Parts: sequence; C-alpha cells; structure tokens
Amino acid sequence: LKKRFSEILEKISNKGIITEKNIKVTLREIRKSLLEADVALSVVKKFIHNVKKKSLGKKFNTSLTPGQEFIKIIKHELIQKLGNDDNTLKFSKKPPSIYLIVGLQGMGKTTSIGKIGQLLHKQYKKKVLNVTTDTYRFAAVKQLELLSLQTQIDFFLFKENNDPKEIAINSIKYAIKKSYDVVLIDTSGRLHTDQKMMLELQDIYKTINPTETLLVVDSMLGQDVTNIAERFSTLVNITGIILTKMDSDTKGGVALSIKELTQKPIKFVGNGEKLDAIEIFNSQKIANRILGMEDIFSLIKEIENKIILPKQKINNLKKKFDLNDFLIYVNQVRNTGGLAYLIKKLPINKTISQLSNTINDKELNNFVAIINSMTKIEKKNPNIIKNSRKHRIALGSGLNVQSVNKLLKQFDIVKKMVEKVKKIGLSQSIKNLFF
Ligand code: GDP
Ligand code: MG
Repeated sequence: LKKRFSEILEKISNKGIITEKNIKVTLREIRKSLLEADVALSVVKKFIHNVKKKSLGKKFNTSLTPGQEFIKIIKHELIQKLGNDDNTLKFSKKPPSIYLIVGLQGMGKTTSIGKIGQLLHKQYKKKVLNVTTDTYRFAAVKQLELLSLQTQIDFFLFKENNDPKEIAINSIKYAIKKSYDVVLIDTSGRLHTDQKMMLELQDIYKTINPTETLLVVDSMLGQDVTNIAERFSTLVNITGIILTKMDSDTKGGVALSIKELTQKPIKFVGNGEKLDAIEIFNSQKIANRILGMEDIFSLIKEIENKIILPKQKINNLKKKFDLNDFLIYVNQVRNTGGLAYLIKKLPINKTISQLSNTINDKELNNFVAIINSMTKIEKKNPNIIKNSRKHRIALGSGLNVQSVNKLLKQFDIVKKMVEKVKKIGLSQSIKNLFF
C-alpha cells in the first residue's frame, strides 16, 4: 500500500524539492480543508501565501514526496500560528485580579465564568467573586447566581438601581475589602451594531482597568468572526480568547481566524455545557482538528482493527506471505466496505483517491475470482505463475491475463508492505503514508 501511494505520488512529483507544480494538488486540498473548517477567507489567503513563500524551493532528503513534506510544513506552521505564546491567565501582583468577560450574546460568556470560577477555586485555590453587569435581563442575573451556587463561588449582590459601571466598581471595592483573589465580571450580551451598549462596555473597561479582558468566541461562528474581532478590538484591549462549544462538530477553524485577527492567545477551550467542560488551549490538538488529522488517526485505528492482517496474524507470519494470505487480506478489505470507503474519510481524500483509483472494489472481486482459479501449489508459490499458467488462470476466472498480472503486482506490493509492517509496526507504516 505504502509503495503504491508513493509510487503514484512520485509520478507527479519532482522528488527532493518543493516546487509550485508538485504541491499544486496538496495546496488546493489544504485551502479547501481550511475553508471547510470555516477559517476566515482573508486568514486562509494569508496563511497559504506565507507557507508557500516559506516552502518553495525547500530541499529535503526524506523518503517523503514534496506533497507529503509540504503537509508537514503546513502542520508545523499551523501549530506555531495557533499558540506559540503564553496562554496562562495573568494574575495581578496586587489582588484582586480582575477578569472582564466580553463578547456577543449567546457565545458562552456566563457559562465560561461558571467554568473558570470553578477551575480557579478548585485547582488554584483562589477566592473568587462572580459579578454580573448584565442587568438588562433578570434571567441573566439568575443564571450567574445559580452557576455560582452550583460551584460554591460567592456571587456579588448589587443594588437594583445601580448601573452596570457602578456595579463593577462596587464589586471591586467589596472584593478588596473581603480579600478576594479574583473578580470575574460578566457583561451583557450585546450586538456589535448596538453602539450605546458597546460604548457602555468601553466605559466599564476604562474605569476598572482589568487584569485580563477575555473575548468569548463561539467556535461555530464562521466568517462572522472577522467583524467581531474588529469591533471588540477597537473598543477594549483584549488580552485573550475563550473558544467555546468545541464539542460541536465544527472543525474549529475559528481558532486560527481569531488568533490571526486579534493576535491574542487563546487561553481556554469550552467543550460542553457541563461546568467542568473546559480545558487549557492546546494548539497541536486544534491544528490536527482543523486539518482533519484526527480523522487520519481514527482511520489508522480502523485499518489496524479491521483490515490488512490482524496483528497476531502478522506476528505469526513466520512463513512466507503467499496468495492464501493475500486472499485473506483482500476479503478483509472487501468486508470493511472497500478502500473507497476508507479513503472517503480522509481529509485529503481527493488527492489520495485521485492517486489511488487504480484499485477499486470491482478489482477486489476480480482478485478473489483469480485466486480461486489457482491450484494449491500456485497459491503457495506465486513465482511459478508464468505465461501458460497465467492463461489458464485467466480463462478459469473469466478474466484476462492483464488482470492476472495486475493481481500479481498488487500481491507483490502487499507482500513487501507486510514485510515492512513486520519490521517497523503497522501504525508507523501507515503514518509514513501521510507524514
Ligand atoms: P452568553 O450569552 O455569552 O452569556 O452565553 P451563555 O453562557 O448563556 O451560553 C449560551 C448557550 O451556550 C447556553 O445554552 C450554554 O449552555 C451554551 N454553551 C456555552 N458554552 C458551551 C460549550 O462549550 N459547549 C456547549 N455545547 N454549549 C455551550
Ligand atoms: Mg450571559
């Protein structure tokens, strides 16, 4: 398998050096992946442009093809772009640390405060005070009050006639008096077109001078992220991002967009409605997800579990790999829905399937028919299958000599692969196909 892929890739490649021509297909697929992951258009363009500039003319002497080498560079670049800076929460030297949570309505601000409060309280042993300045909706006040109760965090009670800015000021005074370490300040959900509310946010920001101002961004945002990033960046000095709803089936391209557009670190990722569904941002994990590499890893597992030769069989293969084993292999591939099914799952599916359309499900059926027309001795010693035998087998299977040749060639490839697998392990062999 490995040999086939690299063989075909080699045909379109100029081994050893990355050129405009030999990464054309890969480039197109990567652009598609990024857009499908909902990375903002301007960010995709810039990203591709930069990686291309860095890669063209680059020499390498691995066994990889330029396309594969290029994917490696892209992945590396993506990880760098996503998180090569400090993404820990900053604490103020003189307590309390004040965190202002901003963002559009429904992004997950209040929920994130519940999560972060609990995290700071439980893991960092901080004394936390939750505050809401979202007094426009009674339900919003109740929501944070309830979350505070659930997480055993104190909730700041305010006088009904206070305005949002006064509430913020009073809560900080209270926090100083009562020696809180952290004040988490919720803000009202607003539309970025609502000028009055946006200015109110700016007013609060300027008055309290927060230790961190965290912008909450829903990972399902898509192209809208550009407007939001721009609008909030001009109002307040954002110091970090909280990316929510990563438990949805989005690929998470918003992570790259928001990072590029604001140049601020993503600090937390929310991945569920529950209060402990939050994690520290991990750029490698998200890079894999954006590029669809997660799919590759699960594909590898699937191949490992279902097709080719099950591990124990490979290990027991002290004897020579013959056509009987090949028949088992072919049947396993067929039972899994065929190669086409597996290839469809690949993020760079087009590339690979274009390159690997030499094998299809019909061919697998032919293989079975051909092997069944062979004698026991032929199955055990494929090298004795010369011209006259080929004709007889072809006739018996209702196919032609070319098909028999094709089978023998495939057998050879798989045999070499099995030998390699025995040497370096299955996972590594398959990974070598992609990285
Ligand atoms: P706010 O208007 O920005 O304060 O948003 P909320 O905190 O009220 O959240 C809006 C909705 O998103 C609620 O139904 C939350 O339960 C949900 N939500 C927030 N964060 C996450 C998350 O990480 N995953 C999922 N699945 N839902 C979330
Ligand atoms: Mg809210």
